[in-house]
Amino acid sequence: MQITGITVWQVDLPLHKPYWLSGGRLKFERLDSTLVRIDTDSGISGWGEGCPWGITYLPAHGRGIRAAIEELAPALIGLDPRQLDKVNRVMDVTLPGHLYAKSALDIACWDIAAKSAGLPLCEMLGARETDPIPIASSVSTGTAEEMLNEVKRFRDMGYRVHSCKVGADVSEDIERINLLAKNELPNEIIFYDVNRAWLPHQAITVMNAVEGVGSWFEQPCETLDELAQVRRQTRYPVSIDEGLHTMADLMRVQREGLAEIANIKINRVGGLSKARQLRDQCLASGIAMLIMDTGGGVLADTVVSHLAQSIPPESCLGVWSCQEMVSVDVAPGQGARNIVGCFEAPDQPGIGVEPDLSLLDNPVLSFPR
Ligand code: MG
Repeated sequence: MQITGITVWQVDLPLHKPYWLSGGRLKFERLDSTLVRIDTDSGISGWGEGCPWGITYLPAHGRGIRAAIEELAPALIGLDPRQLDKVNRVMDVTLPGHLYAKSALDIACWDIAAKSAGLPLCEMLGARETDPIPIASSVSTGTAEEMLNEVKRFRDMGYRVHSCKVGADVSEDIERINLLAKNELPNEIIFYDVNRAWLPHQAITVMNAVEGVGSWFEQPCETLDELAQVRRQTRYPVSIDEGLHTMADLMRVQREGLAEIANIKINRVGGLSKARQLRDQCLASGIAMLIMDTGGGVLADTVVSHLAQSIPPESCLGVWSCQEMVSVDVAPGQGARNIVGCFEAPDQPGIGVEPDLSLLDNPVLSFPR
């Protein structure tokens, strides 16, 4: 089987509500998503999506994905998309780094490989665990009472994992966390996502002042060095999110005991092939996981559902549903959808999502030229 063509669409995904990132980073109102279709000489096509969470969250932006695909696509024509390690090696030699920009291409190749095997993607990834995967709510920073009310609203919809965004002000964060922790139900997880907004002295102050936290703090500081400093002076578990890009990062986290949980965002780590390696290393070393993407619609979410579905439930603590934050759906009725606060990977071969071409504008790139 050979790759014969690569076609690229740009899709604007307006957010239902404008979003502000903690730490004073910019407000944004839409996501810039890139959809990729890879065609083959066997008639099987695969789809992938790449979508950064705005331009201020990570060193990644939508136009960067498409610029990188212009460099990468010619090198992929003629390759067998089922030889995923080779596809990734060719991408890494053709354009070192730029992990986020390679993800959609890698995912489209996985879609083809799974379709050609007649298997749902999760089974190609090694397993279909039986339990649906809990979706983590996303609770914006507000007053303690506002955040608790938001948790209750999600709870009423069936969510049992809540990602509460903190990191605005030390004394207010202590108040927020104490109230939320006091109201955490049995069989519920409320964790505190700082999105790297605290300096180490702030993280140490808050994490030593709060009481009764039954879960963990996510990415309290910017760097792994800062996290190491915080770890020496605090006692709560930590998840690593924005600080995890490569296997080398994960090996350091493991070696130095920097985190008990890894939030693997497929786009950020360079696609499913690399996310799968991280998954396996986490399983081998007792690090639990959250599986997410950095943004996107139902296609990205459904890929997340497949990777999460391949992980034993005790090691997969939750996923995130970005599709509910955006007002455009390019594949109505398809893919993983929120069922009482959970995702379940579809049964069809491949990812199980084919965007409706009538809902897309004209392609912005196609190869061969
Ligand atoms: Mg996070």
